[in-house]
Amino acid sequence: MYGSNCLLYENDPGPAELNVGTAQEPHLVPRSVAWQQGYAMNVLVDFDGDHARLLAAAGECRAEAGRRAAESPYRAREWSRAADLCTLAAAMVEGAGGHRDDQARRRVVASCRHETTMMTLGAIPAVAESSAQELIEQLAAIDAEPASGSERPPGEPVSALIAGDVLQQVAAGWSDPGREPPADRAAVAELVACAGQVAWSPDRDLWHELIYRLSGRRLYRRYRTRRTRSPEDAPWIDIPSFNRFTWRTRAAYVKGTFAFAVDYQVCRMCGLGWVEEPYTETQFQRSGLARAALAALRSDYAGLSWHTLGGHFREAVPFWEGVGAGVAGGYTQRAPCLHIETG
Ligand SMILES: [Zn+2]
Repeated sequence: MYGSNCLLYENDPGPAELNVGTAQEPHLVPRSVAWQQGYAMNVLVDFDGDHARLLAAAGECRAEAGRRAAESPYRAREWSRAADLCTLAAAMVEGAGGHRDDQARRRVVASCRHETTMMTLGAIPAVAESSAQELIEQLAAIDAEPASGSERPPGEPVSALIAGDVLQQVAAGWSDPGREPPADRAAVAELVACAGQVAWSPDRDLWHELIYRLSGRRLYRRYRTRRTRSPEDAPWIDIPSFNRFTWRTRAAYVKGTFAFAVDYQVCRMCGLGWVEEPYTETQFQRSGLARAALAALRSDYAGLSWHTLGGHFREAVPFWEGVGAGVAGGYTQRAPCLHIETG
């Protein structure tokens, strides 16, 4: 139903781009993408943000599209669009960290429920107001619960939240020349071995932006910092990129000292992933951190074809040939698809 409705709206006459932001902060996207995002939020709510079910449903819809392709091309397109919507919804859950954290899942469901209400009934002030109020209450209730550090045994101290000055230091380019202890080879090896264990901090967009807007721009910082764990707590972290809007950064710390970072972005609609500017601090180079991080990303986002945005510097060519061997896409240069922003 969502797939076929979405296609109908996409094909309606109208402007080439729609504004999915606000009047003050417009964010224009191609109209087909705007409709798909809207319907994907409906799908996300109906699936209660269940990431595994969304991906499974995407696969089923894709298969159904294949079965119908010969006898009914239009029906096949509807199923194919349904698959896209499931995929997009799964990506939204991922972006919010809901595939790893149940509270994050419930936040993104609550936010999308509000957004879909606003899309259909938001022109009615009373509805808009009560929906926004309900969302704020739901988010407050989720926040009032103890943090869902489910892998942490009971009785262990709750991890410290990352401090604002740490974030600023990260934003300033990760550099802190004042302290450069010699690399601890054993610690680095341990880090390489646990590259799959990542503390996840949600995207800035979607529900962050929503909360930011609803709260009159007061709550953004609080939500942002509350969800970002300390580097001491987890050796690997996954946070919104400071350099590229909508991109993420996967980074590693050795005993609290920054060691490695790479920016990445994925598009499940196109089955593509991009990595950009892997950077290893001098004393941690040639320890396999970059290789381990890229392997962990491929495992986290299975089935994608991997690329880089820019070309490779000559001295980096052997590195990319090494890590790209046997990898779909081979980390070859590729322009971004229309679904992602590179700014
Ligand atoms: Zn794409």
